[in-house]
Amino acid sequence: MEKEKPSGAVWVIAELHDCRLRTVSTQLVGKARSLANKLNVPVEVILLGEQPEEPAKNLIASGADRVYIGASSDLAVYQSDVYADIIVKLVRAKQPEILVMGSTFMGRELAPILAARLQTGLTAHCIDLVLDENNLLDQQIPAYGGLLSILCPEKRPQMATVAGGVFPTPELDSSRKGEVVRLEIPTELSARVRTLEVVIESHDEQSLESAAFIVAAGAGAGDAKGWNQIEALAATLNAALGCTRPAVDEGWTDLETMIGQSGKMVSPQFYIGVGLSGELQHMVGVKGAQIMAAINNDPKSPVFEQVDYGVVEDCRTFLPLFIERITAFQEERVTC
Ligand SMILES: Cc1cc2nc3c(=O)[nH]c(=O)nc-3n(C[C@H](O)[C@H](O)[C@H](O)COP(=O)(O)OP(=O)(O)OC[C@H]3O[C@@H](n4cnc5c(N)ncnc54)[C@H](O)[C@@H]3O)c2cc1C
Repeated sequence: MEKEKPSGAVWVIAELHDCRLRTVSTQLVGKARSLANKLNVPVEVILLGEQPEEPAKNLIASGADRVYIGASSDLAVYQSDVYADIIVKLVRAKQPEILVMGSTFMGRELAPILAARLQTGLTAHCIDLVLDENNLLDQQIPAYGGLLSILCPEKRPQMATVAGGVFPTPELDSSRKGEVVRLEIPTELSARVRTLEVVIESHDEQSLESAAFIVAAGAGAGDAKGWNQIEALAATLNAALGCTRPAVDEGWTDLETMIGQSGKMVSPQFYIGVGLSGELQHMVGVKGAQIMAAINNDPKSPVFEQVDYGVVEDCRTFLPLFIERITAFQEERVTC
């Protein structure tokens, strides 16, 4: 594909999961729309999959002006080499100004591959994207106890990944008009790495994103035994269980339960943070919570400045008593 005049467009790499668009893709199209309106350029989306035609219409209804679709049974599941080849070729030809994608498992792998091949910068796990006074993309991430602005003034496209839930889902407007451009996909796709099968781990636990009540815990749980108490608290309250990074690093729980900048964005009615310090990278993930409480043995912990209710106690001695009282209270209510 030949190099054309730079389109200056705002691009989104959208993603399908079980033949349906991932919510983060439409959220990014909504954000791209507002950036593109300020820059007075189009929003363009790339969507690869087995049957991307119908989802492409949803992308237009969400705010896209043009959707490049690549349809092939070979693209049914994400294939890093093949996806990267197709996207790099198109980016080189069309030269968008900005390129964003979700911090999904696909985005976390594909974005750095694209950035390296396009020799541009990439900011992962942004929590906001705005335009600065020179119309550069101000890519904001939590760092050093505050928000850090990252700019990419020289290389193009300016690339960022963003987790689901950071931006709102736009209202669909089915009257919007847009163009669907079908990409030519070679019948023989060469790849050094091939995904043969996707096995989805089953999770019996409540989904964090839709939970009304979340108990999240961190390093203060101390050890696996301490973590069992956190799980017991969540079970007693019928809450979903979340965590901070150290709990994953220690192997007490898996990455799927991590809340924050590089984890999930949640918006429960009630959140309790146990044995966690309230670092911004975790707290950005709970900014949608309505009522918040924390249990921490350090009265000076920054978490107490960010919650509505605080308990200064050692969680290892406090939790067994707390669980006992909640259980007694629940039994009393059943008997009454
Ligand atoms: C680029 C980047 C992205 C990141 N993304 C994320 C993310 O998405 N999510 C995330 O969580 N982190 C993330 N982190 C890590 C983050 O910066 C913090 O290191 C992490 O959130 C701290 O976890 P914590 O609060 O459990 O641990 P700590 O900061 O060590 O805090 C432990 C707390 O437990 C308390 N405590 C200790 N013992 C007890 C006890 N017995 N009883 C009660 N309280 C006790 C202590 O007083 C302390 O306040 C990221 C970091 C980087 C650099």
